[in-house]
Amino acid sequence: MQGLATTVATHCPYCALQCGMQLTPGAGGVKILGNPKFPVNEGGLCVKGWSAAATLDHPDRLRTPLVRDATGQLVPATWDEALVKIASQFTAIQQRYGLDAIGVFGGGSLTNEKAYLLGKFARVALRTSNIDYNGRFCMSSAAAAASRAFGLDRGLPFPMSDIPQASAILLVGSNVAETMPPIMRYFERQQTNGGKLFVVDPRRTPTAQWATRHLQLRPGSDTALANGLLHVLVRDRLIDEKYISRRTEKFEDALRVSAAYWPERVEQITGVPEAVFTEAARALGTAPSAMILTSRGPEQQAQGVNNTLAYINLALALGSVGKPFSGYGTLTGQGNGQGGREHGQKADQLPGYRRVDDPIAREQVAAIWRVPSSTIPGPGRPACALIDSMGTDEGVRALLVIGSNLLVSAPNAVQVERRLKALDLLVVADFFLSETAKVADVVLPSAQWAEEEGTMTNLEGRVVLRRRAIDPPEGVRTDIDILCALAAALGKRRHFAFHGSRDVFDELRRATAGAPADYAGITYERIEAEDGVFWPCPSADHPGTPRLFTDVFPTPSGRARFHGVPHQPPADDPDAEFPLHLTTGRVLAHYQSGTQTRRVAELRKAAPEPLAEMHPATAKLHKLRNGARVTLATRRASATFMLNVTPGIREDTVFVPFHWGDAQSINRLTSAEVDPTSGMPEFKVCAVRATAAAEDTGE
Ligand code: SF4
Repeated sequence: MQGLATTVATHCPYCALQCGMQLTPGAGGVKILGNPKFPVNEGGLCVKGWSAAATLDHPDRLRTPLVRDATGQLVPATWDEALVKIASQFTAIQQRYGLDAIGVFGGGSLTNEKAYLLGKFARVALRTSNIDYNGRFCMSSAAAAASRAFGLDRGLPFPMSDIPQASAILLVGSNVAETMPPIMRYFERQQTNGGKLFVVDPRRTPTAQWATRHLQLRPGSDTALANGLLHVLVRDRLIDEKYISRRTEKFEDALRVSAAYWPERVEQITGVPEAVFTEAARALGTAPSAMILTSRGPEQQAQGVNNTLAYINLALALGSVGKPFSGYGTLTGQGNGQGGREHGQKADQLPGYRRVDDPIAREQVAAIWRVPSSTIPGPGRPACALIDSMGTDEGVRALLVIGSNLLVSAPNAVQVERRLKALDLLVVADFFLSETAKVADVVLPSAQWAEEEGTMTNLEGRVVLRRRAIDPPEGVRTDIDILCALAAALGKRRHFAFHGSRDVFDELRRATAGAPADYAGITYERIEAEDGVFWPCPSADHPGTPRLFTDVFPTPSGRARFHGVPHQPPADDPDAEFPLHLTTGRVLAHYQSGTQTRRVAELRKAAPEPLAEMHPATAKLHKLRNGARVTLATRRASATFMLNVTPGIREDTVFVPFHWGDAQSINRLTSAEVDPTSGMPEFKVCAVRATAAAEDTGE
């Protein structure tokens, strides 16, 4: 391991909090300390951040390209051999099946530069419309809802320093105490200041235990709960009529729908007692500053956009959006879940949140890319549709995957594996042999977070700088080098003459100038000097924008829009055959598909395998005991897990975390039903049956 400097201030490789950390390379490896000067985490890190250095010199690191040989084995190859094979097969496939026969799949942990370059690579080097990314699985419903209601999607439209000043917060479907523990300092300060926190979750998570009140709703009933809360606010005259008439439109739509959600009906649909949600509504309605925060719970559903819109209705009715210490926000999960959805790796999007079907946007981006706008493809397939099309005559025949382990993170994983194996060519760039890389035809070893430079945009919309602390291992290239080399092999060198991430960022700034997510005024130097810069930042002398929507909404009318959204049951609702709800999520020790964290001994020890959580009454009914093996079956597949019997979960619900692959993958069981607007899959609810595993019954 070659060190570049004594101590380097950078950011954690994992979640969207992007905690500041200091890396000190040395003979025994890289030492990590929290960075007390970075305002978001003030030196705090969670166990994932503390242990992140273990991934850098890990014995599993890929150090050479691998190519599948005639016997079916992945064998070492030179970079030239690998790149020539990819370029020649991509070309042959496009000649036979058309330009759209190549798919590109990115990730929400890629830096802004990589996300931007991947979008350009797909549209300029490959000229395919089929590019999407794993952020489709986590952020697309909140993004679509915020765009509809406010005209712009930025996870938190206010800095996190607003949280302690909020008098009442409704936190929906988020277990931040486990997924991003350093954020809890903000909620602790809020409680110290006398604020109230209401947590909505089917599980009594550590976050819910910590709250003023827990609303333990039935999975898939968010819209009913939000409409019920609005019903109480209207009934008890706790809405902000002045704000509604001055700054919003279509309130009557939400009012009409919410009128049908009287408390008894809401209690019956959601399972939340009337007294509890009435208390929450009154606390929000009387709070000087009220905040609504959603997360994957309501968003990862086939009704994800409607669920989010229903919670946004509440924030608008309270008159809180655009006011200090108030408003609506979504808590982004992946490290660059925010920036990763802004710069063109979504099927319908060009850099800066420009739309790929907008003729003006196409001209603007074409001028930066120095290509005719007519050569930029139109909208492609969103992630699940892209996966479904793989290996079919009309679909994608070859796939390039960067920064994603879709075989673990996509729903209905058995079908995903079938589709991946049906491809003519699968290329995966990763630093470990992930589950997806294992079934690839070509694997390219890429550099990790501490070995390269680039920007990330945290959950507040603050653009931060990830710095290089050490060199990548010999034989390993950065994703930017890989994309430029592949573009050159495809004959597109002149469009990809970048000498590192700063070069790419300079082009990204120009490509986003004047766009909704405008980075034109952000430079690496400013980020360093200012502890990050909030977008939009259109010029070098612009201070950045920590708070959005203070005076006007970027909609055609300048007003925010209410939506009337009735409750609809989940696509795969329980019945006699599959009588329980299955819901999925994360645990403290692991991040996303676990490719990195499952390789860290300390984290593996803390959570060696996925545990299925079940209520004691349900376990008794099924003749199951704590620690037994339980087989969970859905309409798609079955898998066996160790049982964790806990009173903290609803009696009608089973929870399993999703960080594991192969036989331990809960995503083999989840539903690939998607939200019709966002394309986000319904990870958070499907019907399941539980039985004692064969080994436990002696069968
Ligand atoms: Fe911070 Fe998230 Fe990293 Fe934990 S995983 S240290 S909360 S950025």
